[in-house]
Parts: sequence; C-alpha cells; structure tokens
Amino acid sequence: MDPFIQLVSFGLLAAGGNLLGGFLITKSQETRQTKLRYLIAVGAGFMLAAVFLEVIPEVARQWDGQLGVAMSWLLAGYLLIQLAEHTVAPHFHFGEEIHTEEMLRRGAATTAVIALSVHTFFDGVAIASGLLTSFRLGFLIFIAILLHKVPEGFTVASIMLSSGRGTRAAWHATLLIAAATFAGILSVTLVKPAVIYTLPFSAGVTLYVAASDLIPEVNHSGGTRTSLLIFAGVALFYLTHLILHEALGE
Ligand SMILES: [Zn+2]
Ligand SMILES: [Zn+2]
Repeated sequence: MDPFIQLVSFGLLAAGGNLLGGFLITKSQETRQTKLRYLIAVGAGFMLAAVFLEVIPEVARQWDGQLGVAMSWLLAGYLLIQLAEHTVAPHFHFGEEIHTEEMLRRGAATTAVIALSVHTFFDGVAIASGLLTSFRLGFLIFIAILLHKVPEGFTVASIMLSSGRGTRAAWHATLLIAAATFAGILSVTLVKPAVIYTLPFSAGVTLYVAASDLIPEVNHSGGTRTSLLIFAGVALFYLTHLILHEALGE
C-alpha cells in the first residue's frame, strides 16, 4: 500500500474514533461509563507496552550512542501534556466529565478542550512518526492510539455538556480534537526528516496519556476487573506483535 494512503487512512480512522465517542455521549441517554472504562484500561496497557517495547528500542537504534538526548525529547513530550492538561487547564481528567461546578468556571471548558487538542495533535504525530519509520511500528502505534480514541471523544463531548453547552457545541469540540489528530499526521508527513525528534517526543506524549491520564482514571473507579484489563492490554500488544511478525515475516 502507498505510504501516503496508509497515513491518510490511519489518520481518518483515528479521528473517526473521536467522532464515535462524541456521538455516543450526545446520542445516548444512559452513560456507557463501564464499557468505556474497560476500553481505557486495555488502551493504557497496550500503549505502555508499545512505548517501552517498540518505540524506545527504535529510538535507541536511531540515536545510537546519544540516547540521553533522545530521552530529553521524550521527557519534553511528557511534560508538554502535564503543562497543557493540568497547568494551563484548571480541570481535566479522562472519562465522563461530571463536575459541573468546576466546568462552569470561566474558561475551564475551553482550556480543557484546547489542552485535549494539543494531546490529540500528538496522537497523530505519533502514528505518522511510527509509519514513516516502518509499517510495523506505525501499525502498533496506530492500534495503541485507536484504543483510547472513543473514550477521548466521549470525554471532550461530556466536558462541553457539563459546562452547560448544547449538543452542537459538544459536536464542534469533538470535531476539533478529531481534526487536530489528522493535522498531527499531516504535519509529520510534510516534514519527514523531523521524525527522529517527533518519534521520541510523541512517545513522551503517549506515555503521559497511558500512565498519567488513562491509568489514574482506571484506578479512580477501582475494581480488580478493570485493573486486570491493563494487563490484558499488554497481552493484546504481544498478540498483535506476534501476528504482525508472522504476517510481515520480519
Ligand atoms: Zn471533572
Ligand atoms: Zn489521545
């Protein structure tokens, strides 16, 4: 398959995940919190495994001997999301937004949505950086990111609804984060030589999302079953990896 077609179709699918999440919250009366929490847990495990077992070893190969510099890029990506989601935005967490009082504060919903679009932009950057390195890496990062895309759309739509805005505003916010994902893909495609930096940087973002956005949300609601699904996510990564290995014969 043509690499550009791969990039565009993976981008559209990832952005589509966001739209599906937004659709679920604006169209359904009953919340789907439990199922989404399962998805968040599986996604977190898969993302962690992808960063530690695929992305960092690849970064180490590319940076040969200068891993310290590469890891500074990774740390910078991690810290960017702490800055956007929890320093600039006064209130943000994954999962359904139910703290109406917090959300009614001036600018709280807007900054949360902007913070989330910074994050989704780098979801796109991560997918493209992976794909431009190798199909296997790109595919694994794509699945890792895709698994949290529906809960992400759900999150952003619920932020708008709980801040007193209507369904239309919830849709606009969902479209914004979906478009940011796609913009992330396109930007890396335009500056391919930057991949050596964007790969570790976006891995830092992915690490933040898995370990500091998704896992706290899993732990907040508690429960053995949900927590076990993080391990299931890691197992799913191994399985996907194995299948790819067979299919691509590497
Ligand atoms: Zn909240
Ligand atoms: Zn994301």
